[in-house]
Amino acid sequence: MTTIAELREQVRGPVVEPGEDDYEELRRVHNGVHDRRPALIVRATSTADVVATVNHAREAGLDLAVRGGGHSAPGFGTCDGGVVLDLSLINNVFVDPVRKTARTGGGATWGDFNHATHAFGHATTGGIISTTGVSGLTLGGGVGYLARGCGLTCDNLVSAEVVTADGRILVASETQNEDLLWALRGGGGNFGVVTSFELGLHDVGTIYGGPLLYEVEDGPAVMRAYDEYIQQAPEQLGAFFGWQMAPPLPFIPEDRHGDMFCVVVTCWSGRPEMGEQAIKPFRDVAEVKAELVGPMPYPALNSAFDGLFHKGMRQYWKADYVLDLPDEAIAAHVEHGPPTPSLSSTMHLYSINGTPSRVGPEETAFGHRDARYVMVIGAFWDPPVEDDAAIRWVRDYYDAVHPFSGTEGGYINMLSEDDDRVAQNYGRNYERLQQVKATYDPDNLFHLNQNITPAR
Ligand SMILES: Cc1cc2nc3c(=O)[nH]c(=O)nc-3n(C[C@H](O)[C@H](O)[C@H](O)COP(=O)(O)OP(=O)(O)OC[C@H]3O[C@@H](n4cnc5c(N)ncnc54)[C@H](O)[C@@H]3O)c2cc1C
Repeated sequence: MTTIAELREQVRGPVVEPGEDDYEELRRVHNGVHDRRPALIVRATSTADVVATVNHAREAGLDLAVRGGGHSAPGFGTCDGGVVLDLSLINNVFVDPVRKTARTGGGATWGDFNHATHAFGHATTGGIISTTGVSGLTLGGGVGYLARGCGLTCDNLVSAEVVTADGRILVASETQNEDLLWALRGGGGNFGVVTSFELGLHDVGTIYGGPLLYEVEDGPAVMRAYDEYIQQAPEQLGAFFGWQMAPPLPFIPEDRHGDMFCVVVTCWSGRPEMGEQAIKPFRDVAEVKAELVGPMPYPALNSAFDGLFHKGMRQYWKADYVLDLPDEAIAAHVEHGPPTPSLSSTMHLYSINGTPSRVGPEETAFGHRDARYVMVIGAFWDPPVEDDAAIRWVRDYYDAVHPFSGTEGGYINMLSEDDDRVAQNYGRNYERLQQVKATYDPDNLFHLNQNITPAR
């Protein structure tokens, strides 16, 4: 077994113990609820550093928390008394314009990724916030503005370099360790540390879009119109519906700051001059009270709402796949959504029809190909908002709308720690995932995640 002193010799990146500089900052993750104190934080700078850290944690019998962007709601990127493997220094992104792919390190954020790919006029499906990690989002599925046209993020995963529990370095692709690639496309961080991802790219540079805000009273009509249009709209149109307390931004009249609105955030990735026509049905449904819509670089939209979700905010989430949106569901949304308990708390409906639905339910670990939406109810708050009030809002709201979702599964990337629906989430793919887990991590070293128990 390596000692910590030997581990320091073996890795090039910083190894940080309690009491050392930066420890207090480095132990924290995005969700401020999780106040954990690891024994060791290794800031890996290479695959070799990752191998040494995995071997050290395994041999010492310590918990191992693998951190990409650190955005996991249950705080899987940190732990008490174990080892945190922080990948944030491995954040290079190399674009191959000929293959039309980008290879990105396991610590890159979507901001890093989009910055690099935008220079080539390309993008791929990522999240709606630029500080989220490419790693966790891709491994759990990946929904965002571009999903209807470009597929889920995991559908764009071409290959990955993975350090497995026994410290081996493997490539997962269509021709090598194919079972591992299948599992990485939605199966989460269960199978090893992904040190690099190769993702397919699409011709997305300037998009046309942004948020449209309506009165809450128009919520039922807007939600119905959103649902009807997004089912048959051209696939270059991405849009999500949500509730939003107005932030103090110049595009919103000052006397309305702090008021509740419903919002449709649009992203047209076809020819920009066709954008206004593409979003017209959202204008026609009700009077738009404020908007920030126009042509913009895709990375600008991807980072437009970062300020609403800063590191350290307290968070609580629940999520469902939604197969259908009957009138009763809309009524429950309107009754329980507004007012939200804080500026950044919201419910979003992310449409995943279109390209994602043309992938078979067993072709990748992400099986919910019949879902129209990923629905997330998320509370994000700082004091003086009280934990109980924020959490109760999420739970009551969720209890009211869940009966209409049409499925038991919930998107694993958007579940809090008290929501143990991993088997339901994977449905008929779960058994196969357990087999793959048994092949690559039979002793469940990688268990600080939405955990898949290894088959015996
Ligand atoms: C503000 C905010 C906005 C979000 N928006 C979206 C969105 O638009 N679309 C969407 O789909 N999701 C979204 N999410 C959810 C997001 O997908 C998950 O939180 C995801 O797990 C974050 O990945 P991460 O790398 O940042 O997190 P981490 O906390 O670093 O990791 C999450 C999980 O993945 C594992 N993991 C991380 N890196 C690796 C790796 N390299 N190899 C193996 N395992 C690894 C971790 O161990 C952990 O279990 C959002 C989350 C937040 C907080």
